[in-house]
Amino acid sequence: MVESIKQKVINMRLADCHISGATIASKFNITRQYVALILKDAGLPNAGKPVRYLCNFCGDVIKGDSKLFCSKKCHIYYHNIPVVCDNCGRLFYVPYSQFMARLAKNPDKSWTCCNPCKEEYKVKIFINSL
Ligand SMILES: [Zn+2]
Ligand SMILES: [Zn+2]
Repeated sequence: MVESIKQKVINMRLADCHISGATIASKFNITRQYVALILKDAGLPNAGKPVRYLCNFCGDVIKGDSKLFCSKKCHIYYHNIPVVCDNCGRLFYVPYSQFMARLAKNPDKSWTCCNPCKEEYKVKIFINSL
């Protein structure tokens, strides 16, 4: 049995809830009004739901235009690991790859946010070891 246009339109709406009525109409070379009518008869929505993306970091629904992250913070967190400086206690970010490489090589090594902190921390360790 050949599927009727009506059935095809309904199937397309069921298969893809994001597709717009206009897109369905252009696929079958029929008018948007006809698509709207078919879908209305079938009790299905004519307008496609806007596509929603989930944040790659926290998994929340993204409200903005980004397809990857819901916020700048999540973007930073995704690529960088927040680390607390062992010397001054400041929070800073280490690129994920660098963090993992160092963790694999030297897990006990201290994290310091800058060179002065690094030097200062070395002195602290030295004094503590006396
Ligand atoms: Zn997020
Ligand atoms: Zn520091």
